[in-house]
This record gives sequence, C-alpha cells and structure tokens, in this order.
Amino acid sequence: MKTIGLIGGMSFESTAVYYRMINEMVRQRLGGLHSAELLLHSVNFEEIVRLQKAGDWAAAARRLGAVAAGLETAGAGCVLICTNTMHLVADAVQGSTGAHLIHIIDETAAALKAAGKHRPLLLATRYTMEHGFYADRMAALGIDVMVPDADGRALVHDVIFNELCQGRIVAASRERLIALIERAKAAGADSIILGCTEICLILDPADLPLPGFDSTAIHARAAVDFALGADHAIKAA
Ligand code: GLU
Repeated sequence: MKTIGLIGGMSFESTAVYYRMINEMVRQRLGGLHSAELLLHSVNFEEIVRLQKAGDWAAAARRLGAVAAGLETAGAGCVLICTNTMHLVADAVQGSTGAHLIHIIDETAAALKAAGKHRPLLLATRYTMEHGFYADRMAALGIDVMVPDADGRALVHDVIFNELCQGRIVAASRERLIALIERAKAAGADSIILGCTEICLILDPADLPLPGFDSTAIHARAAVDFALGADHAIKAA
C-alpha cells in the first residue's frame, strides 16, 4: 500500500471527514483490520484565511508547497489538498513536490462525466465560484459549471465560513441551500457539485433534488485508488 499525504486543516471539520472516509474505504476494500497508511499535515486555518482575504495567493502557494514537500520527504506517494478553494494554487503546490498531486477538480469532473452529467450547479466558497480557476478547468474537461446568483453565492460562502468550518450545522441554512438547488434545477442544472469539502456536513448528496457529487468523497476515493493500486481487489480473510 502506498502512503497518502493529506494537506489538511482547511478546515479541520472536513479533514476529519477525509480521515474517516479514507480509512473506511481501505477497510471495506481489504477487510479485517486494514487501515490506510496516511500522513497528515494539518495547518492553522486562521493563517490561511488571512491570506485568502488579502488575496495573497503567492504566499499561500509557498506555504502549502512547503507542506507538500515535507509530506513527500516523510514518505507520501501522493498529496491531497483537502479543500477545493486552495486548488487555486494547486499547480504551484505540484511544482513543489515530486509526489503526485491528486487534483480535486479533475476527479470531480471524471465522476460527473462517468454519470453523464455536464451542467452542474457549483456550491462552494466565493473564491471557488468567482475566481474562474474551477470553472475554467471544468470547461476544459467538458463540464459547463453553473454558479448561483450574487445572493446565492453570498449565502453559500457565509454558511461555509460562519457555520460549517466552525462546527455548526443549522437546519434553516440547509433549507435555504435546498431552495437554491431547486431554482438551479428549474434553470437547467442537471446535477450539484458539493464543491467545498465541508458541504457534505450539511447536505446529503443522495438526498437532493438533483444528483449530488460530493468532492470530499470523490477525492478520498481517488486517494484510496492510488494507495491500493492493483491491491485493491484483494479481500483479506
Ligand atoms: N474546505 C473548503 C473548500 O473546500 C473551504 C475552506 C477553504 O477556504 O479552504 O473550499
């Protein structure tokens, strides 16, 4: 089994989900008491959020690049940036390490295409919905991403940072997100991207008005595929 490197802490609420999902998938595939070989470098999210707010993506890239290099030195064969937003600096992070960066946008696009979906609504942070890095990469992969209107984008961004990243699940916010999905469905969306790694804490992708694609689960599964390679078919007694 290869070692998975996680760049986590953005926020720790979703990194905990990655940790559990990856281990559960390894146990499910290998059976018995198997669990993942995994390294986690969890950063102080407050520092990263300050860089986001300042628009200092170069400093963020240097910080996460150093973390990726450290994970490689410690033995990681792949690295995951456990947040969609910070994929804004994914190319720079990949340039800082020889370990394979498993890209959350590429993996999510592959899952959408496999399901025959091409017009998803993206629910994510303002950075992910507005900076273009996400939609552009999806477009290059044949996926035409739809984003909510300005009010909808503000709602999703605020729910992520003021509630989910702080460990709060608010029923009224769930209702508002579902209403936003209903409007997107009426406007032609064929699916929903849970494009922030905390959104699975408030929305169940299997219980939405449109098919849901959870970036956290998709990313975690790709890491397990990488780690187990051909071994994954072996089921221990
Ligand atoms: N985890 C979130 C994401 O997937 C938001 C936190 C961040 O800004 O990195 O985008």
